[in-house]
Amino acid sequence: MEAALGTEGGKFGKYGGKFIPETLVPAINELESAYTAFKDDPVFLKDLDYYLTKFAGRPTPLYYAKNLTEYAGGSRILLKREDLLHGGAHKTNNTIGQALLAKRMGKRRIIAETGAGQHGVGTAIACAALKLQCEIYMGSRDMVRQKSNVFRMRLLGAKVHEVNTGSKTLKDAINEALRDWISNVQDTYYLIGSVVGPHPYPTMVRDFQCVIGNEIRSQIHDYSPRSPDFIVACVGGGSNAMGSFYPFITDKATSLVGVEAGGKGLNSRQHCASLLAGSEGILHGMQTYILQDKYGQVSHTHSISAGLDYPGVGPEHAYLKDIDRVKYVDCTDELAVDAFVRLCKLEGIIPALESSHAVAYAMKLAKKGQKNQDIVVTLSGRGDKDLGIVSRYLQREREHK
Ligand SMILES: *Cc1c(COP(=O)(O)O)cnc(C)c1O
Repeated sequence: MEAALGTEGGKFGKYGGKFIPETLVPAINELESAYTAFKDDPVFLKDLDYYLTKFAGRPTPLYYAKNLTEYAGGSRILLKREDLLHGGAHKTNNTIGQALLAKRMGKRRIIAETGAGQHGVGTAIACAALKLQCEIYMGSRDMVRQKSNVFRMRLLGAKVHEVNTGSKTLKDAINEALRDWISNVQDTYYLIGSVVGPHPYPTMVRDFQCVIGNEIRSQIHDYSPRSPDFIVACVGGGSNAMGSFYPFITDKATSLVGVEAGGKGLNSRQHCASLLAGSEGILHGMQTYILQDKYGQVSHTHSISAGLDYPGVGPEHAYLKDIDRVKYVDCTDELAVDAFVRLCKLEGIIPALESSHAVAYAMKLAKKGQKNQDIVVTLSGRGDKDLGIVSRYLQREREHK
């Protein structure tokens, strides 16, 4: 998506836009008008609500983590339990939403790309439920690293295309998916997994994820008459964070905190903190903060959690950072694993490593905070997928002691 074209609509300050090759303009325009037409359509929203509740298990609970709160010794910590959503993460909110839209648009075939496999699995789940043909592009190196997700996708009826070009990872899979879309726009819908890409994706994915923040808004009243003092969420592309934050953007009583993956530390160059350590640029059809060198070459990134390992970030986050409405911080691999282990032991909940970044920062915040303050943490997913990584990490730690 290199060639820059017009950038009307879909701007967040100077970020976002549509930086797409000419061949994709009709497809993006068709998507934009379909989304505009259906997003407030009562029948569409009723369908969406049906699948989110009856199929995916919404609403997810807002749970007072009493033991973690006592351990941190300060503010009250509440967990928004997206780990309990069908599929094991918030991604299902978006894949069901877009798959339903694709159906409305008369598209029979869904394509997506996946790195760690979580979005591929989420897409395959939605396609099976809605009887859509599903094809997933994945780098061959990622396919080896994420074998069980490849098996899941195939079980769920998806066709997984092995991508053998370039570094054989996510960015090559994106290129192949785009090539497919360009040649098959008539019957094919490209389902993007986070608040990234050209307009209207960042806005549309945010809207589908806002169910998280809207539920927090009403569920907080089980605990308090006030809005939460803080909402904390991890930021990869930024969809679980945008969905948690957006309904509170105009509520100045609530401070919003996005946690990026600090990897081995911001000075190590082995991290993916695009907002904290990146610079402006254009990537995957949008203007945003990117980790890149002085020649505009996208940097190599690292995080212990595959879901946060992305060199860019949703353009709305770039804007919210610039206007200072959201505070962005980082959390290292080490602190994320500590929080992962702590939440297992103290609360009986195995969180995703991505979500553990947010838990780690919330614990820090709680310790410094007042007893009468509430911190809501979005627990974006469950950690079963991360057991191997955590067990190897802890093993290595023991060996080095
Ligand atoms: C994919 C994923 C993320 C990162 O994606 P966002 O778009 O930043 O939300 C975070 N947590 C989990 C569990 C994921 O699967």
